[in-house]
Amino acid sequence: GFKCGIVGLPNVGKSTLFNALTKTAAAQAANYPFCTIEPNTGEVAVPDPRMKKLADIAGSKEIIPTRISFVDIAGLVRGASKGEGLGNKFLANIREVDAIVHVLRCFEDTDITHVEGRIDPVGDADTIETELMLADLESLERRLEQTRKRATGKDKEASAQLPVMEAVVKLLQDGKPARLLLKTMSADEIVILKQLNLLTSHPVLYVCNVAEGDAATGNKHTEAVVEMAKAQGAECVVISAAIEAEVAQLPEEEATEFLSALGLDEAGLDRLIRAGYHLLDLITYFTVGPKETRAWTIVRGTKAPQAAGVIHTDFERGFIRAFTIAYDDYIAYKGEVGAKEAGKGRDEGKEYVVNDGDVIHFRFNT
Ligand code: GDP
Repeated sequence: GFKCGIVGLPNVGKSTLFNALTKTAAAQAANYPFCTIEPNTGEVAVPDPRMKKLADIAGSKEIIPTRISFVDIAGLVRGASKGEGLGNKFLANIREVDAIVHVLRCFEDTDITHVEGRIDPVGDADTIETELMLADLESLERRLEQTRKRATGKDKEASAQLPVMEAVVKLLQDGKPARLLLKTMSADEIVILKQLNLLTSHPVLYVCNVAEGDAATGNKHTEAVVEMAKAQGAECVVISAAIEAEVAQLPEEEATEFLSALGLDEAGLDRLIRAGYHLLDLITYFTVGPKETRAWTIVRGTKAPQAAGVIHTDFERGFIRAFTIAYDDYIAYKGEVGAKEAGKGRDEGKEYVVNDGDVIHFRFNT
């Protein structure tokens, strides 16, 4: 499955957010640094209103959403790349995720210590980014000499790696994260970049954690983060972890009332989950029948056999074809029979690139 790692300085609200996300008390929120010692992973359902519409038409007994994982990663502080705080452990955990959710403290509260003694989310983002860049630079510089030698000795792998490594080093030395290269490198180079196992090559989503009263409007701190995110081409979501923690405990109806009283039309967590999904460039296809309507996650650009493989490896191995109806057609023609009659059902082969919202029946050999 796909994993988003939640990072941020101590006391910015990571655990509160994570707990709300998983509706568990697994990660204890407490007013001191390094409370979250082990990385905790929680799987959450990806909200998607299309599922209910499909299920209503097909008379499905069950709706099974697709899921995405969030990992609460132990607090990072200034100096982590040099082993301060939980430095090395943090760095190891962060390598394993697909994307970074960077929580920034945008709430004032004199009762809750800020490790750097001031509320400055852009400064905090910079502190963490700097640590990650230093760690990347150090790890690359350690490997560079070896790779150069092997490249001179006509080692193919090293020869392909070397220019990518050198480009990253140059960028890092300029004070910029490796992820900027995702926008300019070729697909082959990006594969190599990912194999380098860096900390700053993951895409980033900033979460501004605000006080309850600022959830609907944001504040001067969130405005500064939005500016920064825009300049970086990163995504940004404003959330109040405190509100989310409360909402997570309420039955759905009360939650909606509670949110609308605060001027919010949906839970911030739903926005966050969707933003994480978007950040990872994931899309959803559906399998729909009387038993269940189920959502499946694939990376945009995935072809039909590999999409089938998400359900079961046998589906991929024995793939014959994918009978496909676009979501809009399925709704417009009130289900499979209607869509078929209108000529909207398509038999797709193994080169078909699955679209977001496709309703698919796979045919396969066992
Ligand atoms: P972490 O160290 O980043 O995991 O931070 P925690 O989630 O443990 O939060 C640290 C403290 O800040 C806890 O006492 C939380 O209750 C509190 N906190 C978290 N979010 C908010 C918020 O939006 N407003 C206020 N006032 N306190 C918050």
